Amino acid sequence: MKLVVATHNRDKIKEIKAILKDLPFEVMSQKDVGFDEEVIEDGVSFPANALIKAKAVHPYCPDAYVMADDSGLCVDALGGAPGIYSSRFAGEETDYPTKFKYLWDLLASVDPDDWTARFICAVAVVRPDGSAFTVLGEMAGCITDTPRGQNGFGYDPIFYLPNLLVTSAELPPELKNMCSHRGVAVRKMAKKLLKETK
Ligand code: IMP
Repeated sequence: MKLVVATHNRDKIKEIKAILKDLPFEVMSQKDVGFDEEVIEDGVSFPANALIKAKAVHPYCPDAYVMADDSGLCVDALGGAPGIYSSRFAGEETDYPTKFKYLWDLLASVDPDDWTARFICAVAVVRPDGSAFTVLGEMAGCITDTPRGQNGFGYDPIFYLPNLLVTSAELPPELKNMCSHRGVAVRKMAKKLLKETK
């Protein structure tokens, strides 16, 4: 089954390809089907933004299934922020050390025991006939005040997994994919697609 991933984020494509590697999908990027536009993500939720991205690419490959993910970090003590604004947090062009510092400043008056957080990922799929569905995945953890680890991307170095005693940037990629929000959502999507096309 042809599956086009609607994202220009190379880290995400890499993770999604690895998650789907043993399944019968021919995974392509939006670039492979000639889509190179910037999509305006003006939805108010992760599923809404994922759908916007998948729908934008669908006309470029009407015979394929198109999937897009929208994900982010939700910190409980900040009412779920940065959430859908995770990549733009503390400014669109800022690097992650700056975003970490901004987050720690916001959490300064909160007891570190309450720095609980979760990564959330919505995956949207647009089928060749234009119909669509979305699924969600989540990984719970907490924010740490010391970045650790070289793997992953984004907020991984400050996202601590209490059950595993490591940050998600310290996890080998295969292990992160087994427990991550994206891994959970992409496998849910794959299971549903394989069932309905059997
Ligand atoms: P999106 O590309 O609009 O879905 O933005 C997702 C943003 O959320 C990323 O740029 C990161 O800042 C953050 N994020 C989502 N998933 C992860 C992850 O697995 N690790 C670290 N940061 C993530």
